[in-house]
Amino acid sequence: MKIVSAQAWWVQIPIETDKQHVSDFGRLRSFDAAILRLETDDGLVGWGEGKNAAGSAGQYGTLVHLLNHEFGPKIIGRDPADVTYIWEDLYNGVRADKARMSGHAMPELARRGLTVAAISAIDIALWDILGKADSKPVWQLLGGRKADRLRAYASGGWADKDNIGAQLQSYVDQGGFDGVKMRVGAMDGTPHRSAERVIAARKALGPDIDIMVDAHGTFTVADAKRFAYLARDCDLAWFEEPVIGDDKPGMAEVRAASHIPISAGESESTRFDFRDLIVGRCVDILQPDPACCGGITEAMRIGTLASAFNLRLAPHLWAGAPCFFAGLHVCAASPSSSTVEFSLGANPMIHDLSKTPVKAEDGKIAIPDAHGIGLDMNEAVIEKFAIQG
Ligand SMILES: [Mg+2]
Repeated sequence: MKIVSAQAWWVQIPIETDKQHVSDFGRLRSFDAAILRLETDDGLVGWGEGKNAAGSAGQYGTLVHLLNHEFGPKIIGRDPADVTYIWEDLYNGVRADKARMSGHAMPELARRGLTVAAISAIDIALWDILGKADSKPVWQLLGGRKADRLRAYASGGWADKDNIGAQLQSYVDQGGFDGVKMRVGAMDGTPHRSAERVIAARKALGPDIDIMVDAHGTFTVADAKRFAYLARDCDLAWFEEPVIGDDKPGMAEVRAASHIPISAGESESTRFDFRDLIVGRCVDILQPDPACCGGITEAMRIGTLASAFNLRLAPHLWAGAPCFFAGLHVCAASPSSSTVEFSLGANPMIHDLSKTPVKAEDGKIAIPDAHGIGLDMNEAVIEKFAIQG
C-alpha cells in the first residue's frame, strides 16, 4: 500500500451570529482548520487536521501551502504502515537517515509550529488509513480501549457573573455532564472579576459538578496566584494555562503556590515540550492537541510520559472533526487519560464535517467502532467552505 495523493484545504465555516461567542480571542465569527485528505493506491482515504491558531479563528494559508507543496509530496510513495518513521523522517528532515541509524533525533531547524502542525495532520490521516486497511478502529491498533464510552466535560463558559451559573447549568442539562469548563483571565480584566464569576458558578452548580477554569495563558504569575487565592474555596478541578507556555518556571511557581491542579499543553509540540512541562513540575494534567502536538503517534507518547510521572492526560479537543475523533482514540487507548473535552461553543468543524451526529449522553462520549478514526467525512462541506486549495 502506498500514498498516491495528499491534498489539504483551508476550511472556513461561518458561525451564525447568535451562536458566536466573545473571549480574549475576540468574537469568533468562523471556525477555521487545515483539513488533509490522503489517498492510497488501493483507494483508501484518510483524513487529518493540522492546527496553528488558537480559538479556532486563524489564518491557515501557510500551513495548507506547506502540506500541499512540501510535506505532502514527501510522503507520496510511502507505505502508511511506516507511520512512526514517516513522523521521524519529517521531523528530522535532511538528517533523517542519520537520526534513524544513530538512535536519536536530529530535527530540522523549523522543529516546532507549522512543521509539527503539518506532521500532525499527516499522522492522523495515516492512522485513519491504517485502521481502514485493517478493518479496525484506531484504538484497536493502539492496544485496545479502556471503555466503550468515556467521561466528557463541557467546554465553554464565557458569560458574565450574573449569567455564568445559568450558562454552565445549561451544559449540564443538555448533555448530563458532571464537569464544565469556563474561561477566565484577560477577558475579565482583573483576577477579582474572574474569581467573582467562578464563585457565582460554584454557587449555582452546587458541590457535585467539577468546575475547570481556563485562563488561555493570559495571567501574569502574580495575578494567577491572586486569582487562585480568591477562588480557593471553589474546589476547582483544574486551572488551565494560568500563564503563557513560554513561562514554564512561572507556571511551576503558580502550581507550587496553589492547591488547584494545573493543566497545560494545548500549544506545545512534541514529547520534548511535554517532558519540559513535567520535569519543570509545571503541571498535573497534560493537554496535548493531536492537531498541534504531532498527531496520534505523539499524543500516545505524551500519554505514556504522563503515566510514568503519575500525571493525567486530558487532550485539548477544541478542534475540527479529524482532530476530535483522533483524540477519542488517544483517550480510549491511554491508561493516563481522564476526560474528553467536548465543545459547547458553536463548532461546525466537528458537527458539519461529520455525517454521523457527534453528541454526549449522560456526560459520556462513545468511542467509535467504525474503521480508522471513525469519521464519516462530509466532503461536500469541505468543497463548499474551502477557501484555499
Ligand atoms: Mg485551553
